[in-house]
Amino acid sequence: MDLNGKELSNIIQEEIAEEVKTIVAQGKRPPHLAAILVGEDGASRTYVKNKENACAKVGFESSIKRFDASISEEELLNEIRSINENPGIDGLIVQLPLPGHISESKVTHTISPEKDVDGFHDVNIGKLTKGEDTYISATPFGILQLLERNGIETQGKHCVVLGRSNIVGRPMSILMSRNGNPGNATVTLCHSRTKDLKDFCLSADILIVALGRPDFVTADMVKKGAVVIDVGITRVDADNPKGYVLKGDVHYEGVKEVASYITPVPGGVGPMTIIGLLQNTLKAYNQNNLQSEQ
Ligand code: NAP
Repeated sequence: MDLNGKELSNIIQEEIAEEVKTIVAQGKRPPHLAAILVGEDGASRTYVKNKENACAKVGFESSIKRFDASISEEELLNEIRSINENPGIDGLIVQLPLPGHISESKVTHTISPEKDVDGFHDVNIGKLTKGEDTYISATPFGILQLLERNGIETQGKHCVVLGRSNIVGRPMSILMSRNGNPGNATVTLCHSRTKDLKDFCLSADILIVALGRPDFVTADMVKKGAVVIDVGITRVDADNPKGYVLKGDVHYEGVKEVASYITPVPGGVGPMTIIGLLQNTLKAYNQNNLQSEQ
């Protein structure tokens, strides 16, 4: 059965929009997400545009600061500092990747942890690891909600995560091992040096795949009844007007016959990611307002 991220994202989007309506009806300003875009990368421009559209749909304000790829690191850090100090902005994202002369690490750590709605700051990663309240980065947050809202039991299950990136695989493995719901799973994190990867996959009750390798997981690697979450999105050349199709890391047609639940690509994890960002921005807004009321 499909875990439908498109449908769930529409439901949560409605919930956020309702909350914003209530806020605005009380005479308060709506939440505001700011984005910084450096350079002319086509994919980055599309991602930022999508985030702007998503904000508009739920009634958030949004603003995009665009800079030429030649901006110096110090100038960019100063722009971030000025947004940090702007009380009218709740969340800030800097679209990655950045030009080579700018340190992504410095940029990430200059964003105030209170406005870090991407959840990339060390403070927020530390809190996530310790199970404290924080901004969980958007894709893992979206996956947690797909599991929770579909009533998928994770406690005591064996969860195998393929891929250990800082934005998906590693935080996902930590979240699934935390004492909470979803969580309380026994977790195995696999990567390119893992031996006998197929054996680990076959022992998974919940298999979360974030590799960037189209159709990597096939039906013979999945236990009957397992829950399969496919994070991968890769453009693969195809003979159609677009010239490509989007492929997940899981061979959907084969694996759906074995799995109890599976996320399709597109329409699974992807739409949930943007929702995670909106929820983090709303959370930042609420915390921001709570502080100013105290
Ligand atoms: P990444 O940073 O490239 O990490 C890939 C991970 O996969 C690495 O840990 C790598 O291992 C591991 N890996 C690669 N080949 C492997 C193999 N043959 N066997 C075992 N492990 C292997 O990728 P990412 O940023 O996590 O993204 C993964 C995929 O998810 C991509 O397709 C990306 O586009 C997609 N994505 C989707 C969303 C969404 O919203 N749906 C969000 C983020 C990412 P090593 O560490 O050993 O190199």
